[in-house]
Amino acid sequence: MSIINKDKEYVAGTYARFPLEISEGNGALMYDEEGNEYIDLGSGIAVNSFGVADDEWLEAITVQASMLGHTSNLYYTKPCADLAEMLCSRTGMKKVFFSNSGAEANECAIKAARLWALKNKGEGNSTIITLKNSFHGRTITTLAATGQDTFHTDFGPFPEGFVYAEANNLYSVKELAENNNCAAIMMETVQGEGGVYVLDDDFVKGVCKIAKEKNMLVIIDEVQTGNGRTGKLYSYMHYGITPDIVSTAKGLAGGLPLGCTMLGEKVQDILTPGSHGSTFGGNPICCAGALSILSRLDDVMFEEINKRSEYIVSRLNGVKGVKSVSGRGLMLGIECEKPAKDVIASAMAKGVLVLSAKTKVRLLPPLNIPFELLEMAMDKLVEAIEE
Ligand SMILES: *Cc1c(COP(=O)(O)O)cnc(C)c1O
Repeated sequence: MSIINKDKEYVAGTYARFPLEISEGNGALMYDEEGNEYIDLGSGIAVNSFGVADDEWLEAITVQASMLGHTSNLYYTKPCADLAEMLCSRTGMKKVFFSNSGAEANECAIKAARLWALKNKGEGNSTIITLKNSFHGRTITTLAATGQDTFHTDFGPFPEGFVYAEANNLYSVKELAENNNCAAIMMETVQGEGGVYVLDDDFVKGVCKIAKEKNMLVIIDEVQTGNGRTGKLYSYMHYGITPDIVSTAKGLAGGLPLGCTMLGEKVQDILTPGSHGSTFGGNPICCAGALSILSRLDDVMFEEINKRSEYIVSRLNGVKGVKSVSGRGLMLGIECEKPAKDVIASAMAKGVLVLSAKTKVRLLPPLNIPFELLEMAMDKLVEAIEE
């Protein structure tokens, strides 16, 4: 049986996979089982921060795997403590909770916000405002948090306590904050799955002002935007704001599953023994991978990311068939005249892997993709858009 048929037979049908079997990779290059080469502009959906099998990352995780691959959270480990320190010192957040995915990082953010509201505002202040068109995960609660009606069917009953504001509309946020007893507002500063929409500067700052007036927490979902993706360590840093809670995952450990919920001053002591936990959370191999990634995300790297971003945008400028380009850093959305799925299929046939987000073609290339590969990939992508 072919791998594709075996997968179709035995793996639950949750994914509309492309007819392509990836067998290995090296940096921004991927190979199928016949050895055909592809330039990867998707990074496993913003996960492989420095591409596949990056040397330093591989060394860090293999050394750690040979020493200690896992222990329980009943004991202390060095990679976990070192990573927590690095995250706090680089963000100004005070404490972190480690989990395994973006949805779990958001679950923890929601639990922490509700517990804070219970202790500081009293019962009945558990509502969380999220934005329409957002995406926060696939668990029952993070589906409820996701501000898209299509995610609110089939799996009910969903937990209560989420209301949805219009993105980039402060009046909408204000109205919901006035008419509900809110614990927090949660948002992505670039809506990724929703179509790569960047939140306005005035809106994000205005939300923080409303949150302050109403004694609500600000939670920023950096699952996709985080860890250098937008050209700063975390995307909220473009706005000069200080969130109360930041969640992240995808690119954090460069290809291993690691979620993180960072807790600011107001909520740093909210989680106490028994209030939350995760068997795999803070796994030493994942933390060693994240230490390797984060320690290389410095100003020099951010400049490299922004250079690549500018290059991509300049290559798309004026291309026939491109209606608009949105996004920030190496998280870009392209609205094409052709349906995104046709551009993706055509690019794949030419040896370039790209993603979609709603109606757009989405690019999330490895942060350090070599310029010559990026140039080759853009030549082919432009052909796929134009033809
Ligand atoms: C991908 C994503 C999630 C969910 O992350 P998982 O690791 O798939 O659970 C949550 N929020 C945002 C913004 C995402 O992009």
